[in-house]
Amino acid sequence: MSFESLGLAPALLRALTEQGYTEPTPIQAQAIPAALEGKDLLAGAQTGTGKTAAFSLPLLDHIYVSNRKPAQPKAPRALVLTPTRELAAQVHESVRGYGKHLGVRATTVFGGVGMQPQVDALRRGVEILVATPGRLIDHIERRSVNLSNIEVLILDEADRMLDMGFLPAIKRILGHLPKQNRKTWLFSATFAPEIKALAAQFMRDPVEIQV
Ligand code: AMP
Repeated sequence: MSFESLGLAPALLRALTEQGYTEPTPIQAQAIPAALEGKDLLAGAQTGTGKTAAFSLPLLDHIYVSNRKPAQPKAPRALVLTPTRELAAQVHESVRGYGKHLGVRATTVFGGVGMQPQVDALRRGVEILVATPGRLIDHIERRSVNLSNIEVLILDEADRMLDMGFLPAIKRILGHLPKQNRKTWLFSATFAPEIKALAAQFMRDPVEIQV
């Protein structure tokens, strides 16, 4: 199995070669083709399986290939929610690395640091926003972010977000996203009933993947 056979854009393949990736991990081999087909994903994967690339690569491909001009040109087209600021920073770094030949803009917002640099970055405009739920709610309340363009929502480590009490914040955020034509990719190490319930409520006929 090669990355070429998964159908990713050549500019993405070039970044993967530069990073020394030769073949997809099992989660990548299963998630990437389904995600590129436009399916919702319910993926069971631990840290260390290559899950970040499993969602970042089809996400970057989607944003790059369907280069549509949204109604709000500066508002993000994709949102990645993570439980912690460390994970948000790590996902942001991965997205930047894989996307370095694409010209896709990404930023991250998380708590514990000043709001203003984040407000400024959002105002300049991005396609991909990586956020922790609490700080994203702060930006929603200040109207420094507009989520009406979101085409892809990714929930990373969904079980940890729920363990940390973020379910109400996630539901509030979901209320600000478009309901039509949205893709939702949920990654979680475990599938407690609350995760299944969230999936049933907010996802469309997801492809289930377990590695
Ligand atoms: P993650 O599970 O997303 O935290 O990724 C674990 C580590 O595996 C990260 O350091 C990635 O850079 C690396 N990685 C992800 N996919 C691949 C791949 N296909 N080939 C080699 N390394 C990879």
